[in-house]
Amino acid sequence: MFIELEPIFNNIGAKKEFSYSFSPEDGGIEAPVNVSGAVENRAGVVTLTANTAFQDMVACDRCLKPTPRSFQKQFTHILTPTLNSEDNDDFILVEDMHFDLNALLREDILLELPTKVLCKVDCKGLCPMCGANRNETACGCKKPVDPRLAVLQELLSDS
Ligand SMILES: [Zn+2]
Ligand SMILES: [Zn+2]
Repeated sequence: MFIELEPIFNNIGAKKEFSYSFSPEDGGIEAPVNVSGAVENRAGVVTLTANTAFQDMVACDRCLKPTPRSFQKQFTHILTPTLNSEDNDDFILVEDMHFDLNALLREDILLELPTKVLCKVDCKGLCPMCGANRNETACGCKKPVDPRLAVLQELLSDS
């Protein structure tokens, strides 16, 4: 969604509310993101507040099981048409008054997304030898029966 910022910057007290959803095209988010919030000019300071939320399914980092993930976070930024000398992450330089809100929120979300999702905190993952899900079976792969595998394992542990 695009927001026209010019009337907001030019009028103290102006406020534009929004409520919509969008699909981030990449970044591994597999569901539409629901957004609600406002851009508001308070005493000449233009603040963007956006509540974002989505739920999707991602593979467990250890065992690949499809795992529900839910994300919910509020982002607040101060928008400014001129670069401030202070280096502050809360300030967003607006280069185009036809403002692309989705692009900003997509970046916000990707920075906050947990890099690893586990189906449960103590997920045992997949056996590196036979691929069995060790949450479900004890495959007993500790000692390989094939002597060639044993040699290989020795080589690997030496390196
Ligand atoms: Zn898992
Ligand atoms: Zn195994």
